[in-house]
Parts: sequence; C-alpha cells; structure tokens
Amino acid sequence: MREGSLEAPTRHPLAWQDPDFYDEAKLDAEMRRVFDICHGCRRCFNLCDSFPRLFDLVDAAPSEELDTVRSEDFKQVVDACTLCDMCFMTKCPYVPPHNFNLDFPHLMLRYRAVEAKKHGVPLVDRELAKTDRNGKLAALAPAVANWASDAGNGLTRPLLEKRAGLHREAALPKYAGTSLTAQARAQAPAVNEAAPGFGRRAVLYATCFANYNDPGIGRAARAVLAKNGVATEVVHPRCCGMPLLEQGDIAGVARAAAEVAAALGPWIEEGHDVIALTPSCALMLKFEWPLILPQDPAVARLARATFDLSEYLVDIARKEGLAPGLAPMTEPVTLHIACHSRAQNMGQKGAELLRLIPEAKVTVVERCSGHGGSWGFKKRNFEVALKVGKPVARQAAKQAGGYLTSECPLAGVHIGQGMEKLGGEAPKPALVAHPVQLLARAYGLME
Ligand code: SF4
Ligand code: SF4
Repeated sequence: MREGSLEAPTRHPLAWQDPDFYDEAKLDAEMRRVFDICHGCRRCFNLCDSFPRLFDLVDAAPSEELDTVRSEDFKQVVDACTLCDMCFMTKCPYVPPHNFNLDFPHLMLRYRAVEAKKHGVPLVDRELAKTDRNGKLAALAPAVANWASDAGNGLTRPLLEKRAGLHREAALPKYAGTSLTAQARAQAPAVNEAAPGFGRRAVLYATCFANYNDPGIGRAARAVLAKNGVATEVVHPRCCGMPLLEQGDIAGVARAAAEVAAALGPWIEEGHDVIALTPSCALMLKFEWPLILPQDPAVARLARATFDLSEYLVDIARKEGLAPGLAPMTEPVTLHIACHSRAQNMGQKGAELLRLIPEAKVTVVERCSGHGGSWGFKKRNFEVALKVGKPVARQAAKQAGGYLTSECPLAGVHIGQGMEKLGGEAPKPALVAHPVQLLARAYGLME
C-alpha cells in the first residue's frame, strides 16, 4: 500500500512506439513537470540516490527552484535510478489514477530510451546484457569464468574494471557447469500423488540467474513442488530482457517478450501455470511486458498465467494446504523482501512462505538492498549501491548466525558484501539464495 493513498496504483502503457516519446523538448518539459512536483513533495528523499541528487540540484540552483536547474544535470538523477519501482509502488500519492499522472521510474526509463536512441548503448553494456550468450560461454569452462570473475582476483578484476566498468570489489554471480534446463532434462523429481495439491501442473521459467548461475534455486523449487503434488517442466526460451530495460532498449525488451510469450503459449494452453524463479523476471512477465506490448494477446495471457515462486507456493498452502513433513527450523532467518517482489503488489509472500515452516523465527527487512541488477556492479555505482544498502546490511547483521535470504539472489549477495564491510566479530547469518531452499531443507529434500 502506498503512503497517503487508498487507491491501488495503475500504470499506463509505455508509448515507446510514439515518435513524441523520443522528442527531447517534450521529454524535458515532462522531466521539469515531474521534478517540480517531487521538489514540492520530497517524500522519496531516502529511497535511493536519485531523489537526493535531484533535491541537491534544486537546492544549489540560483533560484532554489527547478527553473534554474540545467537540463544537462538531469542525467545524474537518471543515472542513479535502478528502476526498482519503489517510489511508484510505495510512496507516491500522485501516480495514476491521480491527475498528476506521475510515474517516476518510467520517466527515467524514457530518458534512457532517448539517450540510447541518440547515442546508442555502449558496446560493453550491450555485451554484458547478453546474459544467455554469456551464461552459455561461461558454462564451457565455469572454473575459469569463476576464477576470472572472483572479487579476490588481483589479476583479472582490475582489467575487468578498466575494460568493462565493473567495480573490482563487486561480488559477481558465479556460474554453474550444467544449466538448470539441462539438469531438468536429465532428472525429474517424483510427484507426490498423495499431496493435497496433486493435479497442478507448472512450467518453470528458469530465468538467466537460476539457469546459468544458481540452478540450486530451480532444483529446490522442483523438489518442493513435487512434494506438494505439482508436476513441473523447466524451460528457458531466453532472457526476459531486464538488462535491456535498464539500458533503455525497449524494442529489445519487446522482442524478448514476444519470443518468450510465443514459446510459453502452448504450455499455458495445455493447462500449465507459469512460475518465474526470480522476482525481477516475474515482474517483467506480469507487469512490464503488458505495458510494452499492450496489444499482444500472447503477452497478456502469459501475464495472467504467471506466478512468482513464493506466491505460487503460498497459493497452494492457502487453497489446498501444503503436504505434511516440514521439520521445525530452529535457526533464525532474516528475509530481505526485494524491491521487485514488492513491486509485484502481492504482499510479503516470501515471509508467508517461511512462516509455513514450524517454529520459524523470521525477521523481515523491507528496504532496497541498493544493488539494482547490473547497476550495482558498475564502477561508478558500487559505492553508492553499498551506501543505499547499508541500512539493510546493518539490520541483517544484527542477527548473529542463522540464515539470511532474499527472493532476489543478487540482492542477497550484495547484502552479504555490505555486512562484510561493516566488519565486527559476531557470526554473520549464512546466505541462502532463495527462501524455497529453506523449505526444501525443512522437508528433508536437500542439505
Ligand atoms: S525507481 Fe527506485 S531507484 Fe528509481 S527513482 Fe524510484 S525509488 Fe529511486
Ligand atoms: S515520486 Fe511522488 S512521492 Fe516521490 S518525491 Fe516525487 S512526487 Fe513525491
């Protein structure tokens, strides 16, 4: 729920195919209109670095109003936005249906789309966004890829920093040798026909992270779902395009949306639900794609059929009841609710899920971790990402031992890094990539 408003926010489709969308004078006028409202409001001062940058610009301007802020300085506001959607979803009382019609994240996206059209996306960023290609390449020699990308590698990381702009200390995701889709082809868990949820069928959209970096999330999801009577298949037609969205390549996202929607269509027709294994990708399938391709019936059908992983398991628990066999969890767990989970407007499903485990002691941290996809890895952003995430790291570090988890695996790693920076002697909670893995452990399905 947003502050100061009882109405659910609605979002207008992105007019990215309208030439006016790229008209720089019109964009500037819209930036000034929105920034002026924000300057008068200032509720979002502590959400991220975009708003402090905006307010500093206004406060330092000769008139201390927006009229004397130079348009070229707007870029620094845009550059600090991770497109987390939190200002839109949780703070802003002026989003549609309010007649101010304010959508701050989509305005940041429009600015990036205009920049991308005008100057092109830098080569390095384009290469980094090819997550499927990069994942397949890394899988050829994962040990080498992981050695080269390790934050402790004093040989390769300074080079990566220089050539690719990735901060040498940023913890980059490790790669797995065998993708989740390949693992799924080789072995399927036996479905528990006695479970109350028996009869459901679901296709797991693997997502790049679970497919190439951490298939353990998908294995745990399949095991827990099978225990609960759900037969699953795993597919990964291609990346959802979130990295392209961050770069303002909306046409690229539209291509990804059309391809994935076409590939998943037959599964939906056969009666499968679709489960996205990470919240950013679930957000794309459920909300961003229909705003980018509002006339595409396959995209609309996919959006209706898609669930976030935690959301789906909680849905089983509520409607049919979970299969018995969950052992008590004696260790405390801190759960970070990722921005892209919150942006799905579904409640704290990760917390509901963990509380299904007997005796679970769950502390919820609902604040931006600061990482923002690949944004937080960049040399120019890493320190800001740590600064934004410091309150989360502090809260997580209060729990000595036990577990730390976030539905967003990149956020979890970033919070872990933030805790390391805090130092201290107390034992830190062990990082678990997704809450479903704690459920799998409680069922005795995994170590
Ligand atoms: S979308 Fe997130 S990062 Fe961007 S301005 Fe809003 S709160 Fe800040
Ligand atoms: S986005 Fe909305 S809530 Fe946030 S500062 Fe601007 S007007 Fe205020």
